[in-house]
Amino acid sequence: MDKTREKLWRYGIAPPGGTCAVSMEKPIRFVPRQLQVIACPRCGSHHTEKLAQFGSTACKALYRCLDCREPFDYFKL
Ligand SMILES: [Zn+2]
Repeated sequence: MDKTREKLWRYGIAPPGGTCAVSMEKPIRFVPRQLQVIACPRCGSHHTEKLAQFGSTACKALYRCLDCREPFDYFKL
């Protein structure tokens, strides 16, 4: 994991790309996926839902974890 992504993750912001903290491998996609799974930066769960396209800033979306119930920001690309 590169340091910038790790810092975002530790701060509680999901880094861009939809990957989890354990594996930063990213599959090659030729067609954008409509439904992107974002891992919770607090518990690592993939059971998350998007609450709003824009969070505290325009470059972040607001998500909520369905397991630990905590809201978090997702840093968009
Ligand atoms: Zn969680």
